[in-house]
Amino acid sequence: MYQTRCEKMRPWNFVLLIRRFLLAVRDTIIYELSVNELVCGTNDAPASRYATLPKRAFVLFWAQDILVKNMVKRANHCNKVVDNMAQTIRIHNIGNYMLRSYLLETPQGWIALDSGYAGGFEAYKKRLTKLTPLDQVKFVFLTHSHNDHAGFLRELLAESGARLVAHENSLPRLASGKDAMPEGTGFTTRIGVALSAMMKHSSFPPVVPDETAIILKSEADQPFLASGLPIRVVFLPGHTADSIGLFLEETRELLCGDAAGNAVIAPARQAILIENVPEFARSWDKIIALNPSRIYPSHGNPFAAEDLVKYRNRLNDLKLFFPKKN
Ligand SMILES: [Zn+2]
Repeated sequence: MYQTRCEKMRPWNFVLLIRRFLLAVRDTIIYELSVNELVCGTNDAPASRYATLPKRAFVLFWAQDILVKNMVKRANHCNKVVDNMAQTIRIHNIGNYMLRSYLLETPQGWIALDSGYAGGFEAYKKRLTKLTPLDQVKFVFLTHSHNDHAGFLRELLAESGARLVAHENSLPRLASGKDAMPEGTGFTTRIGVALSAMMKHSSFPPVVPDETAIILKSEADQPFLASGLPIRVVFLPGHTADSIGLFLEETRELLCGDAAGNAVIAPARQAILIENVPEFARSWDKIIALNPSRIYPSHGNPFAAEDLVKYRNRLNDLKLFFPKKN
């Protein structure tokens, strides 16, 4: 579960199938708790929250979705990885289906992509330290400053001593400790609008980067390439103005943050929320031109770049949904 690369899925193995199913249910419950924390500010979900029949059916559907997608996609993915064991960078995932927490293991230490929701640091630390001591995390690469990515960024930076790598547009957002919602920001689904009530209140402990932080002003700033690591920073605005990703040059894998998604809450590889649709579409064009071998979104399963080609037209006349004004 925690190591994306070394796992081999054998769909015919019944025990693995059951294990995968239980992990899927666990991931769903973790997500439920995260959502509950956003709404109520607590993880003490009332029993009634899980008691209704539609809810349970939805959870089951979700679990099945994870199960089937993981079986097919992980099997494909692992086949590719076996050929590729000599690469410099290894991708690990210590998150869940709804919110991935990627870690890059490099010869110069570990790079953490984002944090998670506020309050999640201790659990994250527990999972991370199964792989490496916390002080081996040398960089925290912030894909953008939303609360599910920057929630415990402050703690992670302080305890690991890692250097922050972030877009300059992240600075005012991090300082405010709130998800920015610039004029024109909308949701790609009605479910997204329903969730917007929570997102309005989404906040995180503000972060003021220290003097060690690497603030990126343009794509000419390539801190990893400059230090000899085959990792290119790619600017991918649209979901937010500060959205950036990482392209692993050896394997042509792209970690795209929320510039695209593959979870059940958003359609056709879109993000649930978009600040600027034309910019979001241009970022897809940029990704397609990069021709990555695999795309790792922060929400949902890894997918092939062909998916973006397939769904690109839908962005041309994409109508966003907006929350009702009170
Ligand atoms: Zn986001």
